[in-house]
Amino acid sequence: EKGKPLMLSPRTNKGMAFTLQERQILGIHGLLPPKVETQDTQAMRFQNNLKKMTDPLEKYIYLMGIQERNERLFYRVLMEDIEELMPIVYTPTVGLACTQYGHIFRRPKGLFISIRDRGHVRSILDNWPESNVAAVVVTDGERILGLGDLGVYGMGIPVGKLCLYTACAGIRPERCLPVVIDVGTDNETLLHDPLYMGLYQKRDRSQAYDDLIDEFMEAVVEKYGQDTLIQFEDFGNHNAFRFLRKYREKYCTFNDDIQGTASVALAGLLAAQRAVGKPITEHRVLFLGAGEAALGIANLIVMAMTESGVSQDEAQNKIWMYDKYGLLVKGRPQETDANQEAFVHDSPGDVQSFLDAVNTIKPTAIIGVAGAGRLFTHDVIKAMGTLNERPIIFALSNPTNKAECTAEDAYKLTDGRCLFASGSPFGPVTLSDGRVLTPGQGNNAYIFPGVALAVIVSGVRHISDTVFLEAAKTLAEQLTDKELAEGRLYPPLSNIREVSVQMAVKVMEYVYAKGMAFRYPEPLDKNGFVRATVWNTQYDSFLPDTYDWPGVNFSPK
Ligand code: NAP
Ligand code: MN
Repeated sequence: EKGKPLMLSPRTNKGMAFTLQERQILGIHGLLPPKVETQDTQAMRFQNNLKKMTDPLEKYIYLMGIQERNERLFYRVLMEDIEELMPIVYTPTVGLACTQYGHIFRRPKGLFISIRDRGHVRSILDNWPESNVAAVVVTDGERILGLGDLGVYGMGIPVGKLCLYTACAGIRPERCLPVVIDVGTDNETLLHDPLYMGLYQKRDRSQAYDDLIDEFMEAVVEKYGQDTLIQFEDFGNHNAFRFLRKYREKYCTFNDDIQGTASVALAGLLAAQRAVGKPITEHRVLFLGAGEAALGIANLIVMAMTESGVSQDEAQNKIWMYDKYGLLVKGRPQETDANQEAFVHDSPGDVQSFLDAVNTIKPTAIIGVAGAGRLFTHDVIKAMGTLNERPIIFALSNPTNKAECTAEDAYKLTDGRCLFASGSPFGPVTLSDGRVLTPGQGNNAYIFPGVALAVIVSGVRHISDTVFLEAAKTLAEQLTDKELAEGRLYPPLSNIREVSVQMAVKVMEYVYAKGMAFRYPEPLDKNGFVRATVWNTQYDSFLPDTYDWPGVNFSPK
């Protein structure tokens, strides 16, 4: 009996890698094929099968199946081919998987808390089988990527994000908890879908919703400790800002859509600035979209600019936003909200379209975060190419079909002069003169795993925005001149593990230096400390510790 639970749990199962002795001692001999396999051979089996598959959703289902059977093998396969497989477990395919969640569902992988459970959140948490959780990723499913309200189908997002905590930063999987809060959905398709898995009701937007989130936050820290990291993900715009403001001083929390995005986008700008040769303070940035991502990025750019010596007003005046209704200008008929105020300026003249805005404001950089598809038209891209020797064009909306333009359009319409980054991956582009340019992927995965690792190991209680400024600088520094010349604005994703570890070390140095870290004693060799902490996929041995007592004689004298 001893071995069967070990075989049945994905956390301990090794499949055919159980040794002969383990099989015998644990009572599982004969339950596996006779061959004893190494993890290398096991990984090869899955890698071969993955290579044969062409449909990304099929790959997603297959990979998640490995995670359900043998967790270490899953991470081994994922880490070994992270550049290929990140787009499967994360944007863009995870978006597709979320829309299909009720149809492809096999096993639950996180905790579901519904508005009907108010008053009982702690007992639900107590049902979670792990006692040592360090990081929670929570969504209420209202704004999944650029796909809108997917209700509990959004569970794919916290699961995917936490996979990257482990794969990119070596945070132990049992210390990660994915959560979906179900307060209903306003998605009519799902409300009519017989396979939908949440409450068939419209989103509760009453006080009960706020009370539930409050109760959830309290229950998490009561059970797992005050320094438990709680990452908010894919909440609707209004709630995202509200909760960030409400909880940031009280809990160890951040919102990845606002702050993580800000950091990765700023890192891209800092890298681009190396190519353009202009300090950050001399840039003028025009956003398409004025939501979580846009405001997060804008505020961090302001922070970077003020750090370089310009006043806050001056910095804010270099940033413009264009939303569904047009340019954010004073006195326009449509309302702007308090978060946007700093970026609402006097009208610069008659602006009827985004193209007009580009030609009037003459930005050095345009950043697309509207989630509304290909709105950087050919004319917009060409105008950027006319206005700037090295235009900066970031098409950050996810998934791929929501990106504001393709990498190919951006490079070809600017004769390869633009510095391009996207949220979802695009492949390298070959220009007519034979040059090959590799677009940057402004993937939040460059930031949140490394920051999370630093926060967890340092015992940080609140995460300030300066941490994300520090993370952005660290990321930009890791890009080599050679990579920059290839068009890249970020290090290759295949290096993400090393990138995350170095980021964790730098962030750790920063939080200790600023008195934000509460884990004592402070590790002096932070590099060694972080490297010794990270989890790897090697199997544990389940053999009991057996040994001899040489020379001991139990015969009575
Ligand atoms: P959000 O808070 O809902 O903001 C969307 C903004 O775009 C709103 O200001 C919205 O205006 C505006 N908008 C919508 N349709 C538009 C249109 N046709 N023309 C101009 N503006 C339009 O969402 P978010 O969190 O900022 O995310 C937006 C997108 O960024 C998503 O696709 C997301 O996947 C992507 N994103 C990428 C990264 C990354 O690449 N690392 C990170 C985070 C987010 P209204 O408020 O008036 O509707
Ligand atoms: Mn997100």
